[in-house]
Amino acid sequence: MEIRLAGIKEFSVADGPGIRTVIFTQGCKNRCKGCHNISTWDLNGGYIQEINSLISYIDSICPNKKVTISGGEPLIQYNELKYLLKVLYKKNIIYAYIQATI
Ligand code: SF4
Repeated sequence: MEIRLAGIKEFSVADGPGIRTVIFTQGCKNRCKGCHNISTWDLNGGYIQEINSLISYIDSICPNKKVTISGGEPLIQYNELKYLLKVLYKKNIIYAYIQATI
């Protein structure tokens, strides 16, 4: 399974409690006034990432096993997100904190 991403940020202290790995999904239809992530709006932008390789990558770079999912609007890719979070949960990568406006 694949997911469309805008990017990944390591060692963030601004996207939830503690030091976190942040996964920015690509695509958003909400068009909020004052959005700071306009570059993530394009549903065809960003890049395609195979989810299992993303999980392996997260596993290797995520020292305290804390992940934040942001965007874009993560829930646009509901099935992909559900799969990602299910596997992260099984791997004991905890507190998948979802930033979403809807
Ligand atoms: S939901 Fe987030 S990414 Fe989408 S327009 Fe609103 S603030 Fe921007």
